[in-house]
Amino acid sequence: MSQITLGILGGGQLGSMLSIAAKKLKIKTIIFCDDQKAPSQNFCDEFIFAEYNDKNKIYEFAKKVDFITYEFENIPFETLNELNKLKPVSPKPSVNRLIQHRLAEKDFVNKLNIRTTRYALIKSKDELLPLDDFLPGILKTTTMGYDGKGQYPIKNISEIDSLKIDFSKDYILEKLVKLKKEISVIITRFSNNKYEIYEPIENTHKDQILKHSKMPAEISEKLFNQSKEWAIMIAEELKYTGTLCIEYFIDRNDNLYVNEIAPRVHNSGHLTINAYNVSQFENHIRAVCSLNQIKLKKLFNAEMINIIGDEIITYRENLRLNENQFFFDYLKKDIKEKRKMGHLTILK
Ligand code: ADP
Ligand code: MG
Repeated sequence: MSQITLGILGGGQLGSMLSIAAKKLKIKTIIFCDDQKAPSQNFCDEFIFAEYNDKNKIYEFAKKVDFITYEFENIPFETLNELNKLKPVSPKPSVNRLIQHRLAEKDFVNKLNIRTTRYALIKSKDELLPLDDFLPGILKTTTMGYDGKGQYPIKNISEIDSLKIDFSKDYILEKLVKLKKEISVIITRFSNNKYEIYEPIENTHKDQILKHSKMPAEISEKLFNQSKEWAIMIAEELKYTGTLCIEYFIDRNDNLYVNEIAPRVHNSGHLTINAYNVSQFENHIRAVCSLNQIKLKKLFNAEMINIIGDEIITYRENLRLNENQFFFDYLKKDIKEKRKMGHLTILK
């Protein structure tokens, strides 16, 4: 077969790591991104800078590639849909549209009889006032949120005015779960009942941003199995193609809840690069480019530390790595507070 070219929408660190994995498989990558400074241009074969609704650039991009995927779920549905008429887009646009919207996503999960947090749609301040029993809670924009952006923790109703909430947007109000732990399960689905699934990963967040991941997760066998079963059910129901991550909460009574679905490779899975025979990135590419499926094998236990904001400076300046440590610099030029700048994986 002649060389495959994969088009990727979105140019952040996930796009970079997808490009690196593609290179290993001798697949060319073209990244399309609306950020001129996108870090993935350091890693892909070709970079197209344009707005996601720029029709001409979108057609130009489609012409050059064989398959299309995305590393960022907030790509406009219309763009994915147009592209899908020209070249196969995976995961399919309808899946992304569902998951992009926190309310549709949670309704979908509940219909499968899988537990989520309690939630309610909020379109105005008046709708928020009677929902006392959802407090303490978190108000989240229904669309476009990530890394805690667009979220307002609310302890009690009297706080609402001081939070200066922008009610031109729709929100969901979620009851706060008394968290014991957070875990994630990453699965790559190839076709009906054909998938590869990674072990649950235990995650720690700071300021709603992932800080630390480890495998194995310290959870009961019951939760280990249940979290994997739910991930398989969700991937099958969506008829998903590619890598998907389910983020879960575990409360103090050991109840498992789906927090959210990420229709893409996921930050908690960076450790799969070094800990498994096939990483979440390589598996994603294998699935979306219709390559063969390889049986997953864990090689090591591992931990991953996210390097956020100016923490990157010391890593860049004087890092001495042991043989079991792997540092990845996303090569983002501007250091910003709360911005993911790189990560360190430690094999155990
Ligand atoms: P994002 O899209 O920004 O990742 P999440 O809904 O995953 O949004 O929230 C980010 C983090 O905030 C979660 O991983 C968790 O630590 C905390 N959080 C969010 N919602 C709740 C909740 N209902 N109860 C407890 N913690 C929450
Ligand atoms: Mg999340």
